[in-house]
Amino acid sequence: MLTEIVTDEQLIDLYTTPGYLVAVDYPKKEVKLHTVDCMLADPISSVGVKPSKARENKTGEFWFSESRDESNSKAEKIAKKNGYTYTICPICNR
Ligand SMILES: [Zn+2]
Repeated sequence: MLTEIVTDEQLIDLYTTPGYLVAVDYPKKEVKLHTVDCMLADPISSVGVKPSKARENKTGEFWFSESRDESNSKAEKIAKKNGYTYTICPICNR
């Protein structure tokens, strides 16, 4: 099941749950697929995504699913609809 992530806390709580994060960056016109334990998907890390801030500034959206297929199709759908680039994170890709 897909869950929209709207706060950093929500994502932090999912850290130990095996699953995937679809990170949409509006300014960069980019959709990225991460595993939730990727450092780039960790709001605590300085390089990680910040869902609370992105929502506040309307600069992005985030989706979580335990299924890679489901995450992948959500990411592809958003990318296609908006003409964004879709990439699978090279750091956590597995
Ligand atoms: Zn990643």
